[in-house]
Parts: sequence; C-alpha cells; structure tokens
Amino acid sequence: MARVLAFANQKGGVAKTTSTINLAVAFKEQGLRVLAVDLDPQGNLTMSQGFNPDEITRSMFDVLIHRLPIEHVIHEVEVDLAVSSIDLAGAELALSATIGRERALEKALGAVKDRYDWILIDTPPSLGLLTINALVAADDVIVPVQCEYLSLRGLVQLENTLQMVRENLNPHVHIVGILPTMFDGRTLHAKEAIEILEENFGDLVFDTKIRKTIRFAEAPVKGSSVMKYDPSGKAAHAYRDLAKEVLNGAKAREHA
Ligand code: ADP
Ligand code: MG
Repeated sequence: MARVLAFANQKGGVAKTTSTINLAVAFKEQGLRVLAVDLDPQGNLTMSQGFNPDEITRSMFDVLIHRLPIEHVIHEVEVDLAVSSIDLAGAELALSATIGRERALEKALGAVKDRYDWILIDTPPSLGLLTINALVAADDVIVPVQCEYLSLRGLVQLENTLQMVRENLNPHVHIVGILPTMFDGRTLHAKEAIEILEENFGDLVFDTKIRKTIRFAEAPVKGSSVMKYDPSGKAAHAYRDLAKEVLNGAKAREHA
C-alpha cells in the first residue's frame, strides 16, 4: 500500500510544486512506483509536465466533485500524474456543501493505493478545503520553506491546521520534515534562516537543503523535471539526497 506524502505551505512560491515533481522522479529512479497528484487549480505541476491545463477535459475536479474514478485523470508522463485544471478552483465551494467534504481525496486514492509505493500531493497556496483534503489523505507532510523569506508565523499557522486535522480527521498525519529551498549559501541571510529554522524545529529540518539555481525555472518550460532536464546537475542530486533522507526516515519508523 502506498505511503501518501503531501507538500504543504500556504505561502506561494516556496517550491511545493518543484519539490513534488522532482522528489517523485527521484523516487521513481529508485525503482519505486509513484503517483503525483496536482491539487492546485493553478495547475503548475500539470503544466510542468507539458500539459496545457486549458485543454484538459477531465481533472481532479471531476474526481473530487463527480466521483470520477481517479484512473481517468492519470496520465503517464515522467511519473504517473493525476492532472489539475482551472475548474478545480470551484472545487472548494462545490465540496463545502457535501457530506464527507474533507475525505473526497482520501476516498479517491483508496482505489489506486495498492498500485503505488508513494503518492505525492502538490497543494495550493492556502489552508482551504483542497489542502485539508490532502492532509486528511496523507501519512506524511513535507513543508518546503524559502530561505529568503522565512515566515515562522506561517509555519505556526500550518501546524495549528495540522493539529486540527489530527484531532478531528486523521490522527496519524505528521510533518516528516521541513525542507529549506532556494538556499543561497553565499549570503549570511540564508545561513541565518537555516539557524532560525533549526532553533525552532530541531531535527525536523532536513539535512538536505535545496540550493538556489536557475535550472528550476528552466526545466518546467521544457515540460520536464530537473531530474530529466539536467540529470547530473547539483539540483538533481539534491532531490536524490532528499529521496534518500525520506526513505531512510520511513524505514526507521517501520522498525520503530
Ligand atoms: P510553489 O509551488 O510553492 O508556489 P514553485 O515550486 O512553483 O513554488 O516555485 C516557485 C518558483 O521558484 C518557480 O518559478 C520555480 O521554478 C522557482 N524555484 C523553485 N525551486 C527553486 C530553487 N531551488 N532555486 C531557484 N528557483 C527555484
Ligand atoms: Mg505550486
């Protein structure tokens, strides 16, 4: 049965989408079966794999709202990808009036969980119903944070939401790690950001830091992950390191 890992941070531009696709591909390189789910109405993950979201007829919207089996919106690209479209922006409103509104994604994933080792979910920049659906479906959460604009208050808000989800909907969801992204080792500011994170969150901060590089902006334009666009570059290696760290953590918990 798949482990479900959600990327969450209500702040935009912290590398949720970038981390989802690149970790997904890094897992696949390890021989794991991976599904990535685009739960953001902006469809950046979907676009980054070469789709035009305006041309997508069936998306996660239909899965969540019309109970379309998720298989119908999964495309085989670098990894299996359940696509988003702009329709998804209406999902929060449409879901809000339904019974079991927080569990629509969990239900949908249930049908394919035995076909994958990992399911990675990219979420929108908010703590609304789509993100809640991701947290309810998830075992693990990775929180990418941008070293340049560290928002501790935002992280506290996210932890409060997670606590609420644990108390009411999914007792075992937890943060497996905080991922510093867009790290520029030449600046004092970036080093201070890491120090502040480690003071506040200790071991929860991944050893792997994702450095700032233009490769991450170039790759999606080519419709590919950095893993494929520049496979031997530092950026790809960083996500391979992250994959190892996540897999080791998962193994350690199994034996605990
Ligand atoms: P989010 O999904 O949290 O909004 P994205 O993954 O879309 O964030 O990243 C925001 C922008 O930053 C994108 O243009 C992306 O290409 C760029 N980016 C992501 N990671 C890095 C990095 N390590 N270095 C430089 N740019 C990055
Ligand atoms: Mg995004």
